[in-house]
Amino acid sequence: MTEPKRVAILGSTGSIGTQTLEVIRQHSSDFQVEVLTAQNNADLLIEQALEFIPNAVVIGNEEHYLKVKAALIPKDIKVFAGQKAIAQVVEMDSIDVVLTALVGYSGLIPTLHAIKAGKQIALANKETLVVAGEIITALAKEYGVNIFPVDSEHSAIFQCLIGEFHNPIEKIILTASGGPFRGKDRDFLKSVTKAQALKHPNWEMGAKITIDSASLMNKGLEVIEAKWLFGLKIEQIDVVVHPQSIIHSLVQFEDGSLKAQLGLPDMRIPIQFALSFPDRLKNGFERFDFLNYPNLTFEQPDKKTFRNLQLAFDALAMGGNAPCILNASNEIVVAAFLREEVGFLEMSDLIEETLAKAEFIACPSLEDYVDTDSRAREITQELIKNNK
Ligand code: MG
Repeated sequence: MTEPKRVAILGSTGSIGTQTLEVIRQHSSDFQVEVLTAQNNADLLIEQALEFIPNAVVIGNEEHYLKVKAALIPKDIKVFAGQKAIAQVVEMDSIDVVLTALVGYSGLIPTLHAIKAGKQIALANKETLVVAGEIITALAKEYGVNIFPVDSEHSAIFQCLIGEFHNPIEKIILTASGGPFRGKDRDFLKSVTKAQALKHPNWEMGAKITIDSASLMNKGLEVIEAKWLFGLKIEQIDVVVHPQSIIHSLVQFEDGSLKAQLGLPDMRIPIQFALSFPDRLKNGFERFDFLNYPNLTFEQPDKKTFRNLQLAFDALAMGGNAPCILNASNEIVVAAFLREEVGFLEMSDLIEETLAKAEFIACPSLEDYVDTDSRAREITQELIKNNK
């Protein structure tokens, strides 16, 4: 028997984090939880730590430090607090793989630290590659680190490429569910509420990604993520709307053959594969039955109504720090939409204005990305304030 893989989960109390722990619970001889981190949910972090007994935990919000410490020190679990501690804890010798499930830009710095410490990465935080894909992929190469995608579409593509790594990709086709507002026009979208946008038809996810799915920004971010993960040109990336979310994405090779990966929409499968690669571990998750899905359908994405998808393609075409601007602005507008301060369609307008206003840098350094992120946030905040 081989030793269990020792896993650090960044963002263990979120949707991906809790599903990762479900996978580990079912495969306790294959995986061992070494580190857990959470931003605010101290109670759940404590509960998880008491069950899995990691070596260390980090609570991002320092206000909860004493509470977490009091609960876990008697169990001999190390407790740290703050953003810096999240970035440092991934360097521990006893970690084999770091699963990054932080929300948004906050994933960037810890992922950089993990790569430099030679840890394998199971990447659920797509924003890391959106913001600084060029730096991250170059570093991963330099340090001999693999980045295993957790995002279901990218896991699908990765699975299609197994045994094909020497064959050039002609193109990839990312599938999109279309979200809760598929087929709606701008008139309808003008007045949709937060509650409507939070109802995703197929996937159970956190609030930020659910809004991104409704606005198609999630697919836009995934296009950029795919570019960096698989070394593609923008013309090699297509998006097709597939409302049933059964085909998780496809690869087209140079002989015209298409390979797809299929299954029920269940994030535990790509999470498990990102941790178990190259092995496939037996599990008891519900199986797909074609007879329950007699029709798998496909549509063109409506980029005129859902402008975020077009904006993401535009930012990728611009290159440089444009995707970083797009991402920072999007994080601000999504938070404002969730506070009911901006309307659904306004989100795209604000992102577009921010892209026009923020300074463009063609070859950004890491510092440039950090500056761009905070500057783009400020610009979007100001635009929101002035629009009120
Ligand atoms: Mg996805």
